[in-house]
Amino acid sequence: MRASFSRIGAFSFCAKKYEYRYVLEAPAPQRPELAFGVAIHSALEENFRGKMETRRDLPVEEVVAAFHRHLSAGLSSVPEDYLRGAADPHYLRGMGEHLLDRFMKERAPGLMPAPRGVEEPFRLPIPGGHEITGKFDLLDTDWVLHDFKTSSRPYDARKADPTQLVIYAWACERIFGRVPKALCFDVFVKGDGADGLVDLQPPVVVPTPTPEVMAKVARRIQLQLDGIARVEAEGLFPRAFPPTRCNWCEFQSPCLQEWEQAGRPAPSRIFLESLV
Ligand code: SF4
Repeated sequence: MRASFSRIGAFSFCAKKYEYRYVLEAPAPQRPELAFGVAIHSALEENFRGKMETRRDLPVEEVVAAFHRHLSAGLSSVPEDYLRGAADPHYLRGMGEHLLDRFMKERAPGLMPAPRGVEEPFRLPIPGGHEITGKFDLLDTDWVLHDFKTSSRPYDARKADPTQLVIYAWACERIFGRVPKALCFDVFVKGDGADGLVDLQPPVVVPTPTPEVMAKVARRIQLQLDGIARVEAEGLFPRAFPPTRCNWCEFQSPCLQEWEQAGRPAPSRIFLESLV
């Protein structure tokens, strides 16, 4: 099967959500958090794509204007009901401006993108006839691979999923002939966590996994994809949570309806490790 890191992550989060998104390809209302994340990514992409040619950052105002443009386009398909509290469009705009202003002043001047180092797509063959697809955000000329993240809380490097790190390291090796020196998470903490913190977290740098770890993870990814393919063939995708509590999920409405019709079956989570 062909899968991205986010597809594998979606399965381990909730098999039912995976079914809605990837198997049934069910339409879902756009979430404001997603529109915000995409707008931050797109604004940074415009800056670094330009910088590959000019070797200079865009003025902050241009990056913020690009963010506004992408955010307005993304929010236009978000239901009105979702645009409240921490998802109020004025709040999202102000927060994005603040975070990008800091990034462009504090972080961007020290980052020079490598040629082909911005939003480069990749496809990696995995034993068992599988394929991993993806795109990395930025490879800089110091061979550090950056992943821009918008998150409700600061990122804890100790909890970094080695699968993502290994996939990026392979991608870099395949495209550029060598593994990156390190992986860096640039985390925009977006104020909708319990403490309301809005912050540009100091860079979270994780060393590239060793060849032994990479070989181990490769084997595990293959077995996980074998397992997901088996679950797909059986067509049984349990809910990981009682859907009454899943207010963040874009499929909550159909999931609730089907759950009620099925007599409220008990939730059960499929752990990817148990598929291996
Ligand atoms: S509402 Fe909850 S249980 Fe249902 S698909 Fe979404 S995350 Fe899974």
